Amino acid sequence: MTDEFTTEIHYEEDVDESHLANSTVAVLGYGSQGHAHALNLHESGVDVIVGLRENSSSREPARAEGLEVATAAEAAKQADIVSVLVPDTVQPAVYEEIEPHLEEGDTLQFAHGFNIHYNQIRPPEHVDVTMIAPKSPGHLVRRNYERGEGTPGLLAVYQDTTGDAKERALAYAKGIGCARAGVVETTFREETETDLFGEQAVLCGGIAELIKVGYETLVDAGYSEEMAYFECMNEMKLIVDLMYEGGLGAMWDSVSDTAEYGGLTRGDEIIDDNVRANMDEVLEQVQNGEFATEWVAENQANRPVYTQLNQAEKDHEIEEVGERLRALFAWEGEGEDEDEKTRV
Ligand code: NAD
Ligand code: MG
Ligand code: MG
Ligand code: MG
Ligand code: MG
Repeated sequence: MTDEFTTEIHYEEDVDESHLANSTVAVLGYGSQGHAHALNLHESGVDVIVGLRENSSSREPARAEGLEVATAAEAAKQADIVSVLVPDTVQPAVYEEIEPHLEEGDTLQFAHGFNIHYNQIRPPEHVDVTMIAPKSPGHLVRRNYERGEGTPGLLAVYQDTTGDAKERALAYAKGIGCARAGVVETTFREETETDLFGEQAVLCGGIAELIKVGYETLVDAGYSEEMAYFECMNEMKLIVDLMYEGGLGAMWDSVSDTAEYGGLTRGDEIIDDNVRANMDEVLEQVQNGEFATEWVAENQANRPVYTQLNQAEKDHEIEEVGERLRALFAWEGEGEDEDEKTRV
């Protein structure tokens, strides 16, 4: 299974931008990724048309930046590369509008693999299907580009009809600035499955639940809500910043020896074999398509479960406590010595 996963990395000098020289890129959507891709490509000298709904509030901002705007269908008709940057749940519907305009040798370009990998979009055989997925939110893709810096990105080729799919994707990556920082080769499958697993088990689901259960444990044992909030939620940022800068080592170096010994001896009592088994189960549901099927059906039913869980999370006590405390400590983070904030 691992043999199809690759870790080749490409930089600017590997990229021949002439692969994009006579191409027009349609950027569908002008949100987080869309505005960044459109503006960066435009400033890199690429012909860009932004595809938006007739009544989209993004039409004016895009035009104000000097970009050409059309409907998704019209933009796709004029383009050689169609970059699909509307929300993942909206992509299948928008795809219906553009499919008739995908000509022989065009490229369908994505920033996440969900709809291709789980067959929610089935492109015709006569187009290339590629992915350039910046590893950061769009505002950073834009800001880094403006500073002459780059954002690392992922590259994947799902379908190569022209024989030129990878080179064109790399040229696109260079146009949005990713090749300045490095473009890592992957597959649609690997990108999609690791992204879903990561956000469910660790980044979003796992961490939110860890915080809430830690908070509830302290409050149920009689400690104050404020202390529970600070220990289990507020300090999370300080710890994660250390990991981001220098890995687990920087975090363990920075906390007290007591925190290090306690963490190292108790961490795997908390994240124990049950949690490992649960993670395997979550990964399996990602791999066998069960999660994707559930999420597609949830959207078709107008999101009943999502709506209820979204509200329940907003109603959790830790959110009220946090709002109160953050208002009291609104000065936090302004001009402080970073080291002062890393004591655990
Ligand atoms: P977004 O939600 O920020 O923006 C989507 C834009 O699409 C909107 O601003 C609007 O212009 C348009 N849009 C919204 N609803 C629409 C509809 N019903 N019909 C037509 N157009 C509509 O989206 P995003 O976060 O930029 O995500 C775009 C793609 O990039 C997704 O595939 C996502 O997985 C991927 N991606 C996002 C990030 C990120 O950090 N945001 C990072 C990497 C990849
Ligand atoms: Mg075309
Ligand atoms: Mg992700
Ligand atoms: Mg994701
Ligand atoms: Mg502490």
